[in-house]
Amino acid sequence: MLDPLPILQSTFGFPEFRGVQRQVVDRVLAGENSLAVMPTGAGKSLCYQLPAVALPGTCVVVSPLIALMHDQLRAAEAIGIRAATLTSVDTNQAETIARFRAGALDLLYVAPERASGESFRTLLGQAPLALFAIDEAHCVSEWGHDFRPDYRLLRPLLDHFPAVPRLALTATADAHTRADILEQLGIPQAGMIVAGFDRPNIRYLITPRDNTTRQIADLIAEQPGPGIVYAQTRKAVEQLAEKLAATGRSTRAYHAGLDPHVRARNQADFVASEDMVIVATVAFGMGIDKPDVRFVAHAGLPKSIESYYQETGRAGRDGDPAIAHLFWGAEDFAKARQRIGEVEPHRQAGERTRLNALGALVETAACRRAVLLRHFGDHPPETCGNCDNCLNPPSAVNATEVARKFLSA
Ligand code: ADP
Ligand code: MG
Repeated sequence: MLDPLPILQSTFGFPEFRGVQRQVVDRVLAGENSLAVMPTGAGKSLCYQLPAVALPGTCVVVSPLIALMHDQLRAAEAIGIRAATLTSVDTNQAETIARFRAGALDLLYVAPERASGESFRTLLGQAPLALFAIDEAHCVSEWGHDFRPDYRLLRPLLDHFPAVPRLALTATADAHTRADILEQLGIPQAGMIVAGFDRPNIRYLITPRDNTTRQIADLIAEQPGPGIVYAQTRKAVEQLAEKLAATGRSTRAYHAGLDPHVRARNQADFVASEDMVIVATVAFGMGIDKPDVRFVAHAGLPKSIESYYQETGRAGRDGDPAIAHLFWGAEDFAKARQRIGEVEPHRQAGERTRLNALGALVETAACRRAVLLRHFGDHPPETCGNCDNCLNPPSAVNATEVARKFLSA
């Protein structure tokens, strides 16, 4: 079989494969269907980009966000991969279609709603295909934390080209969601490859809130280097950014309500900086590859353990020590419960299970890392030595108090 290493080195400029990349790439090159579950930053894109370059034909990549597709496009083109996006905002759609038909594309990025359409299926019949890559594949599962109904419509397209291998990729899927992805996309159990989820250089801290601004200001004072502070609403972002600016650290705000130019500039400033704090809604971070983020703070409860893992995972990608500090209050749980009451009835049980998993992480007196990793199916040691509970074992009294606070919410 084709040796992917020379392509890794010449096209991508990396000396070796990382983690399970080789395993995933080998399966794709052998024509097999696979699901790769790999943490954020593990290098999922390479798992389809390399086969896209190595195999004849085009790799069709299904991706949920236009901004994400354009980031990927720029990165691919920068290393000489022939790539294009086919989205509603692209003005060069006719040219892209012509390039595809001429066999002049390694990668073609599309959104699920486009991919599931009749005319797209016809188009794909007009040139050879290398593989289907389904990125953020947890979107296919109602059980997952980010269900996108359009992902459900992909199956007929995949089945229409049974000889073309499919590769589903996700960072964040618990056991239930993984099983669902396999079933929805027609991938055998044996095709699932799961990478280790541990991020040993991240120190996990979880603290009840008393005065969020002061608590985060203290964190900033102790922690040099770039940091991200997640707040839950636009208003909270603006207020917190203003107050934290008073600590003397340069601070920027980021949320969807800002003028697009201001938002883009704040993001660019942060990416270029060595000590800036960006206060943001969770809209911030996807597709941003800043390796030296030294801390991620949550001013309130994240949406799920998956979101918590993904958001905190933006810290310390360079492998140097980093901090993830979550500040929570009982009212966060009360609000979350209220929100669950408003979703479609058949989704409420799943949402409740997800909230309880988050509650278990927040209230545990045991190792945070162990709880987190077990959630993703890992078998971690009982203690990690690098979370608040391992560093400062809570007294039985305190632990009960925290639990009561959670339970009575
Ligand atoms: P993911 O989608 O899993 O979050 P990406 O595909 O965006 O991760 O990759 C994260 C970073 O890792 C990128 O900067 C990428 O260039 C880098 N990377 C990927 N594979 C390798 C490798 N084998 N060696 C070194 N760096 C790699
Ligand atoms: Mg990715």
